[in-house]
Amino acid sequence: MTLHIPFDNSYARLPASFHTRLKPQSVSAPTLVAYNAGLGAELGITGTDDPRLAAIFAGNVMPDGADPLSQIYAGHQFGGFAPQLGDGRAHLLGEVIDTQGTRRDIQLKGSGRTPYSRRGDGRAWLGPVLREYVISEAMHALGVPTTRALAAVRTGDMILRETGPVPGAILTRVAASHIRVGHFEFFASRDMIPELRQLFDHTVSRHYPDASDPQALLQQVCDRQAALVAHWMSLGFIHGVMNTDNCTLSGETIDYGPCAFMDAYAPQQVFSSIDRNGRYAYAAQAEIIVWNMAQLASALIPLMPDQDAAVQSFTRIVHGMADTLSRHWMSRFAAKLGIAAPRKEDAPLIGAFLKLMQSGQADFTNAFRALLTDGARDQFSDPAAFDAWETGWRQRLESEPDPEGLMRRSNPAVIPRNHRIEQMIVAATHGDDRAFHHLNTVLARPYDDHPDAEALTQPPLPEEIVPATYCG
Ligand code: AMP
Ligand code: MG
Ligand code: MG
Repeated sequence: MTLHIPFDNSYARLPASFHTRLKPQSVSAPTLVAYNAGLGAELGITGTDDPRLAAIFAGNVMPDGADPLSQIYAGHQFGGFAPQLGDGRAHLLGEVIDTQGTRRDIQLKGSGRTPYSRRGDGRAWLGPVLREYVISEAMHALGVPTTRALAAVRTGDMILRETGPVPGAILTRVAASHIRVGHFEFFASRDMIPELRQLFDHTVSRHYPDASDPQALLQQVCDRQAALVAHWMSLGFIHGVMNTDNCTLSGETIDYGPCAFMDAYAPQQVFSSIDRNGRYAYAAQAEIIVWNMAQLASALIPLMPDQDAAVQSFTRIVHGMADTLSRHWMSRFAAKLGIAAPRKEDAPLIGAFLKLMQSGQADFTNAFRALLTDGARDQFSDPAAFDAWETGWRQRLESEPDPEGLMRRSNPAVIPRNHRIEQMIVAATHGDDRAFHHLNTVLARPYDDHPDAEALTQPPLPEEIVPATYCG
């Protein structure tokens, strides 16, 4: 059969100033690591027994209807403005309308140099490609809005990274769109107002059809991003590089470079090797997303007829995010404790549990999950302190309809732990992909118990702790 992707491209029709049309650079000997058949079916892709599958998802062969391009954008990286970034190692093949009627991007990442590569080689290595595959699919299964992974291939070429030569790979990423805050910053910072307006129209028609003006768009993006970051935090997820070029308009999580899930609860936890000042630490994410939305607000101002008035109203919207985020946070963490409709008095109950976890070095995921069994006290270095808290908590649950069901849906049994990801990468680097497939299988059902996959629920032994994560 011939692979068929029902392309229906719209970004490619935007003016030339939005992108550069170009083909991916060929690789030597592509082999398929994984094809996500479930996602492929959702996208309407057929003919997946095509022997050219690896060549297609490596960018060596263009499927019919693809119109490959790299997008241009700017962005604030660690607080400093980079006036031009863009897809330095990615090619958007095109878009499809999925079986739900939603437009989705299909993009190759690691597919060669582009006009936006700057000093980069345009490539990705196998480690980060498999990390993104596993973690983005796990996030989806956890219920978090996210880009998806459709395929991963080995390129057959070695590439050079800090540690020496490593195997090259390409990820096929699917997203509601790849439009980032940085896209708006690019045109706003250059005073390209007609293009800024076209970008606004394109974004609205794709993601916010009822947003009548830039203010409504800003409000809705702020709402989605506040919900997203509260969701991350409820799972112990640390994005790691929340630059504005890694912040989508759709409200999907994007760019799984140096991300990680915490093991022991530590609000100041940082993993990313490049985040030296802890700008993107676990607890800082709630403030950073507000900062990012302030950058989006600034970039939208030129579209407003009365800019002075817009500054006032946009400022109110951005400041209002803190409240929205804390409402989402409260409802997510209350659900983790089995409370469906949180009251004001529940905040200290949640706060006390988090404090106990912090002082008791409890594993974030396992401590919450253990509340479903009698094992929770064993998660704490001071079980007596837990017992005192538990009494109050059990009393509070008496007025809740179905605490157990809610907790089972809100506290995963298994997450993609850092040390398991690293072990999987080491194995895959030696050609053994079993751990990769095992992780995908188990993480597809993160809220189920997996008695046969105990090892994936265990926190790292001291020698297994991964001190830092890298972008690659
Ligand atoms: P990131 O830190 O992954 O969000 O990437 C920031 C910018 O660097 C984006 O414009 C990327 O396309 C670009 N970039 C990252 N890695 C590479 C690479 N190996 N080659 C070319 N560009 C890259
Ligand atoms: Mg990025
Ligand atoms: Mg990245």
